[in-house]
Amino acid sequence: MISKRDDIRNVAIIAHVDHGKTTLVDGMLKQSGIFRQNQKVEERVLDSNALERERGITILAKNTAITYNGIKINIVDTPGHADFGGEVERVLKMVDGVLLLVDAFEGPMPQTRFVLKKALALDLPAIVVINKIDRPDARVKQVEDEVLELFIELGADDSQIDFPVVYASAKDGIAKYSMDEPSDNLKPLFDTIVNHIPAPAGDPEAPVQVLITTLDYDDYVGRIAIGRVFRGTIVSGKEYAICKKDGSISMTKVSNLYEFMGLKREEAREATIGDIVAVTGIQDIDIGETIADAENPEPVPYVNIDEPTLSMIF
Ligand code: GDP
Repeated sequence: MISKRDDIRNVAIIAHVDHGKTTLVDGMLKQSGIFRQNQKVEERVLDSNALERERGITILAKNTAITYNGIKINIVDTPGHADFGGEVERVLKMVDGVLLLVDAFEGPMPQTRFVLKKALALDLPAIVVINKIDRPDARVKQVEDEVLELFIELGADDSQIDFPVVYASAKDGIAKYSMDEPSDNLKPLFDTIVNHIPAPAGDPEAPVQVLITTLDYDDYVGRIAIGRVFRGTIVSGKEYAICKKDGSISMTKVSNLYEFMGLKREEAREATIGDIVAVTGIQDIDIGETIADAENPEPVPYVNIDEPTLSMIF
């Protein structure tokens, strides 16, 4: 039976480099109360990868989670560069909506356009966040019009074009629904996410499907596969099938299961529809493959895209 996870929202952030993605997520983490007072949030949370620093672009998808009014919001970073087209698509399969973050002076840029196009094609609803409204040179109204034009140009449907707009200064940790209202926090942004991004739905009793969208590595536990539970309930310590890209199936045990909380992974005994999980114990798994029920192994349809650059990273 299909049920809804009202306690979860899965959202991806789309932004051109320097439009304030890292600052915004830092602010959301701080305000969601995950960090005790006095505890310093690690600077540049999302930009920890050396390769990214070198290139000045965000390449690998990262996961963060916060709780707001008892709802867990999983925030997934999207690579903004066209070279990583295949990865963008898979990352977007983890979420039920996107935050399109646009600098109030610069307006939409080529990278935002590229990822937004993919999000619209996948029928994801978008929330537009006009950031840096504190800039003296901010052109809020024009930028909003440019964003609307971009949606129209990219063929957004009526409901996608009807996007909510939140005005923000990530730097000051504030968000608001209209430019002339006061605000001293990001609550309007949290509320818009909760109200506008659909809760995940699926059948928690069906044979398990977890689509792996990201790989990570830890010296201690080895390969970490990250993905979203599409169907069923995955339990740590159990045997599962891996549906490989070449159509073959191998059996494996899932040693440990983690969910994201803040910047950390927390061990979980089981995870179900809509959860974004990290799984250890599977050395032989790749991006785009599915962890599936041992008796009824069925892959989540694989997004087939040329991606020569991915082999450079993994
Ligand atoms: P990212 O590349 O999208 O992750 O962008 P960052 O979060 O690293 O921000 C890029 C630059 O913009 C940094 O110098 C930030 O301090 C600055 N910035 C971020 N948000 C704001 C904002 O709301 N207002 C202003 N004035 N600057 C901001």
